[in-house]
Order: sequence, then C-alpha cells, then structure tokens
Amino acid sequence: MTAEKDLSSAAYERCELCPRRCGAARAAGRAGACGMTSELTVARAALHFWEEPPVSGESGSGAIFFSGCPLRCVFCQNHEISSGGFGLPVSTSRLAEMMLELEGQGALNVNLVTPLHFAPQVREAVQLARRAGLALPVVCNTSGYELAEVVRALAGTVDVWLTDFKYADAALAGALSGAPDYPDVATSALRAMLESVREAGGRELGPDGSLRRGIIVRHLVLPGHADDSCAVLDRVWGLAGNEVDLSVMNQYTPNERCRRAGGDLARAVTDEEYEIVLCHADDLGFERIWWQEGGTVSESFVPAFDATGVRGPELSEVPHAPVRRRQGV
Ligand code: SF4
Repeated sequence: MTAEKDLSSAAYERCELCPRRCGAARAAGRAGACGMTSELTVARAALHFWEEPPVSGESGSGAIFFSGCPLRCVFCQNHEISSGGFGLPVSTSRLAEMMLELEGQGALNVNLVTPLHFAPQVREAVQLARRAGLALPVVCNTSGYELAEVVRALAGTVDVWLTDFKYADAALAGALSGAPDYPDVATSALRAMLESVREAGGRELGPDGSLRRGIIVRHLVLPGHADDSCAVLDRVWGLAGNEVDLSVMNQYTPNERCRRAGGDLARAVTDEEYEIVLCHADDLGFERIWWQEGGTVSESFVPAFDATGVRGPELSEVPHAPVRRRQGV
C-alpha cells in the first residue's frame, strides 16, 4: 500500500507535491518548477462540452482550469496558463463557490483541470463545497505526472480520474516534456488510481450514462510516434485491462514553437498513424474506446483563458474536436 502525502499547508514550506520534488518555498512566495507559489490561481471556470461523452454529457462538464503545470511539454496548447502564469488568485472558499456555481449552471460534474500542484487547497475546497451541498462527482483531469501518494491522499475527494498517459519511452518523455521519469511515474499513479476506485466500489455510471466513479485514460497520438503510442496502450492494458475507459486522441496541433522547430512535431497526425493506434487498442481487447473525428484543432478553439467564471458565474461554450465512441459497451 502506497503512503499518503501530507496535504496540510505545511506541504508548501518545501514543496514536494509532484514528481519534480523541487523543494520550492512556495509558502514564502517562491514559485516552483510548476511556476506557482502557494497562491491558488485559476484561469477559467465554465461549462465545457467537449470532453468524452461520459464526462461532458448533454449538460456540459464544470471545468475549472488551474494556472501552472509541473510538466513542460514542448507541444503544449495551453501555454498561456501552464507556463505563462495567466490566472487570478482566489481563496479556497471562492474555489468552493465556483464548484457550487457550476452545479447551479447544470454541470454534470466538477472537472478540475491540472489541479494537483494545488492539492491542499483543492481537497479543502471540495470538502467545503460538499458540506455546502455539492452533490456532483469530482473529476481530476491530470497529465498523469502525479505522485502516487498524492493520488492516495485524494481518495474520498476525487471520484473520476481523467488521466493522460503520454509516453512509454523515457527518452521521448525527456525530450518532449523534460520528464524522463514520466513512464514510471504515470504507471505508479495509475496503479494508485485503480486502487482508489476499487476501494470505493469500482466503476459506476449514472442513469444518464455519465461516469460517476471510474478512470478514463487519455492518450494523445503524436506525429511520428505511433510506436510509442502502442507501447503506452500495452502498459495501460497490462495494468488495468477493461477497468478503465480508453480515449485515443488525434487532435495534436503544432504550436508556434513546434512549427518553427520543424520535423514530425511540425505536422498533424496522419490518418494511418491514428488507425495503427486505434487498431492496436482493439487488438489488445479494450472494450470502451473513445476516439476523435476531425483531427487538428485551430488555436482559436483552445479555451478562452479570460478568467470567465473566476470572479462570478457565467455560461460559456468552447468548440473542440468531437469525441466519439469507437464500439459498443
Ligand atoms: S508542485 Fe511545483 S513547487 Fe511543488 S514540487 Fe512540483 S514543481 Fe515543485
């Protein structure tokens, strides 16, 4: 059994909340490798209709985007908030209010996007919101680069893990995200997510087909790296089999940095590359596979990081490559 991380405010004195373990004195106002001090910072809180159908449904997911990120992926589409620092400082109680406001707007769940470098306040805010009546499932939407002990500490807080599994190859993870330990870290984190969901009673759907408890593993196929994508699926299958839903995405879109650098990352994923990965998922035996029609998305379709919903309730909708079910349950 993995130990649980201490998620008291003391965690910010010498921060080791993520696998970077950079030791930043965040409580004293120093930013860590994630770019954030201990000041809770949020870029957007709004209904989002373009996650996988069991998460977005018809009503939309109540997405709260946190500023900062411990990973530094060269192909990041959200650089304004992941490394650019955009966002507004909010209190823990304001974060709890945002969750309740999203519930009031009809959200299917509260969807916390890249939240775990703020895990202490996030856990407290969920507790506050639940005490105030929040009845929605809480989704943790993460890069997969998380400490297993932080995942364990969030049992009882997070109902649905919507986690990336980006790489199986350490050299590729090092080159593209500065994290050669990513494959091992993501493996341990997924194991902890599986334990957490099993202990809570296993995967559970609502009457409307929404995911109330469970795990969706997302994988973004990268141009020129279909072989690593297949190796990722091998790993996930070996760890979890059909305990997880699988979402295979082809929406890779080169950002300015990748376009300038040239090579495979300057182009989109080909239909052939995408099909190789989807066929491999089928061959392994995954029963619940989500896939995307379309392909690359324009940068204008990246959510507007304009502090919508951070100060007060607003409604919004952001277009995105649609996600489709590959085969029946
Ligand atoms: S969460 Fe941020 S400050 Fe803490 S260890 Fe990770 S990168 Fe460093």
